[in-house]
Amino acid sequence: MRLIFLGAPGAGKGTIASAIGTERGLPQVSTGDLFREAVKNGTELGLRVKGIMERGELVPDELTVALVRERLGRPDTAKGYILDGFPRTIPQAEALAAFQRIDGAINFRCGDEVVVRRLSGRRICRSCGAIYHVENMPPRREGVCDRCGGELYIRDDYRLESIRNRLRVYREQTEPLIGWYRGRGLLHDIDSEQTVEKSLEQLRPLLAGLRS
Ligand SMILES: [Zn+2]
Repeated sequence: MRLIFLGAPGAGKGTIASAIGTERGLPQVSTGDLFREAVKNGTELGLRVKGIMERGELVPDELTVALVRERLGRPDTAKGYILDGFPRTIPQAEALAAFQRIDGAINFRCGDEVVVRRLSGRRICRSCGAIYHVENMPPRREGVCDRCGGELYIRDDYRLESIRNRLRVYREQTEPLIGWYRGRGLLHDIDSEQTVEKSLEQLRPLLAGLRS
């Protein structure tokens, strides 16, 4: 089963992709992981990605697509895969459609206020990396890690301004993909404002009904 997971940052698609991937034996493919892997392995594409990232530029579509294409040719994708965070733009979706037939694009719907509440409440331990949430998973003592007593802090990309910026980019670039996949009869909506468990309960029968 070849799936695409779409959703704003904080919609929970990564967590859900990981759960469904484990259940169904499908690898979760994210471009962030592919970039890191290519850089680490020092492949020709990896060296190009490294230079681009060091200059603080965006990896161009052509290079991203080449990495995804190579990844989707590996044997562990024989039963399918979950693309998490790719495609991000319509040109990327068009490039993907040129070499892969997709069975479904799942849209994890989540309003801006919910995303902001989820992401801005995140706190991370400076010492051990444990993750907390001021509402959903608060530490026993405010600002202090339960596990190691380390100091909890807000990572830069979870600051309000940064979250709003990521949401704006998502709405501008990625949201048009929803219409693109809907027009091809491939789009399925999941309510992602509910808990991960509830979203999974909604998603499982939907996937069971997909033809692959
Ligand atoms: Zn800690």
